Amino acid sequence: MRTGHDVAVIGAGPIGCAAAIAFARSGATVLLLESNPRTSERFAGEWIHPSGVRILKSLSLGDLEALVETGPKRGFVVHPDDGSDPIVLPYPDGMTAASFDHSELVSELRRRAAALPGIDYVAPARLTKLSPAPAYVEGESGAEIRIEAKQIVAADGRRSGTRRLLGLADGSVGISFMGGIVLNDVDLPVEGYGHVMSGGPGPIMIYRIGANKVRMCLDIPTSATSLRRDPEALYDAVAPGLPTTMAKALAVSLKARKPAWMETRFQTRTEYGRGNVALVGDAVGCTHPLTAIGISLGLMDVEALLDSVDAADYARQQRAAVRVPEMLSNALYQVFSDNRYDAVAIRRSMYDVWRTDAAERHRTMGLLAATDLRGRSFATSFFRIGFKAARKTVGSQAREGRWRRVRHSLSRFVSWSTWPLAGLLPGYRKIPAHLTAPRVGRPG
Ligand SMILES: Cc1cc2nc3c(=O)[nH]c(=O)nc-3n(C[C@H](O)[C@H](O)[C@H](O)COP(=O)(O)OP(=O)(O)OC[C@H]3O[C@@H](n4cnc5c(N)ncnc54)[C@H](O)[C@@H]3O)c2cc1C
Repeated sequence: MRTGHDVAVIGAGPIGCAAAIAFARSGATVLLLESNPRTSERFAGEWIHPSGVRILKSLSLGDLEALVETGPKRGFVVHPDDGSDPIVLPYPDGMTAASFDHSELVSELRRRAAALPGIDYVAPARLTKLSPAPAYVEGESGAEIRIEAKQIVAADGRRSGTRRLLGLADGSVGISFMGGIVLNDVDLPVEGYGHVMSGGPGPIMIYRIGANKVRMCLDIPTSATSLRRDPEALYDAVAPGLPTTMAKALAVSLKARKPAWMETRFQTRTEYGRGNVALVGDAVGCTHPLTAIGISLGLMDVEALLDSVDAADYARQQRAAVRVPEMLSNALYQVFSDNRYDAVAIRRSMYDVWRTDAAERHRTMGLLAATDLRGRSFATSFFRIGFKAARKTVGSQAREGRWRRVRHSLSRFVSWSTWPLAGLLPGYRKIPAHLTAPRVGRPG
């Protein structure tokens, strides 16, 4: 193996592999280290938005879509919890996403990276220190080996050890738990789309990851330990919100296997590294998987890092680029998971607006795809939806003369207005209070 690489990439998850491939294709020699190759077997990112697919294509990885033989994904279908008809939300301008089985995606990316002549892939190998000189411990021999690289790219995921070694705080907060389970021999309500349902203990996402494999993602509050332990209780809690065929397929799968549970976390994306150590992917920050944006943001990090003149330029570019996707993720999760009357009113208003207004569908999907990164777009959408919800709720309470309720509703909707305001204020970032507050149950 070579010594004195141009770049050392720490972590061979999806983003570390993409970073290694991108640097190698630009002519650099790369050392790619992976501490635990089996981490790819956990349940994690599988849906890649058009912004991420574009970057994969630019790295000559566009043919990865063939991995699942299920074709391009055209957008999402939202199944309202008020029993009304599903709403189809296509990506704008014919753009498409891709979805994979996480472990198949990461295994293939590692294989592609290891096959490139510019990359030395070492696994298992764990970065253990950055000073006085960076070093890793090689898993098999236990030997500590010094890293002689001009630049270090840390793609070691959320709870990044490199972040800690740089003295950067882990400010992440737990949001919920998400269980992933595979359903076999089942058709999606509409093929070629991801599906989102709400109204149960948390939002549910369903998408195809293989010719005979559909992934169901079940989000539940952190406090609902019984739902994680007891498959029957889980089924009873989520099945009422599912189309009948999906509920039947879930019952069959739950008899055969347990869901793979992962904690979901939020870490705002502000720190991009120090000196010659750059952070990319979840090492920078992470959001709830509902908007499935983690891999696409990580790929945007890789693209920006290669494109930037120095570390400050990289951080500046990305802080500006990721603000809206990060806010969208938090705001949508709040709208889909909160079951208080004001959140339900906003959810229903969102369904109405999507159902009746093609321009709003277009704008929402541009924001979700991370092809529209403008705070103004986010603010306009959120304001319209929130204002309609407030007018309808407060109006009917006022007509009934329920003035105490009117006062309460006004204060609730004013608190929601921080979202559109945040969209308009460059640099505004906050951890929404609801992420740390206990989740409120279904409306009575
Ligand atoms: C339940 C769930 C569902 C999700 N669904 C989606 C989705 O559909 N779409 C989407 O875009 N995102 C999704 N995400 C987010 C997505 O999984 C992450 O954004 C993505 O995996 C980040 O990739 P990464 O390479 O930065 O980090 P990781 O995938 O965490 O990879 C980090 C790698 O670094 C290795 N490592 C750690 N420490 C060291 C060390 N000291 N030395 C060497 N190697 C080290 C680890 O073993 C690991 O292989 C989901 C997340 C969760 C939890």
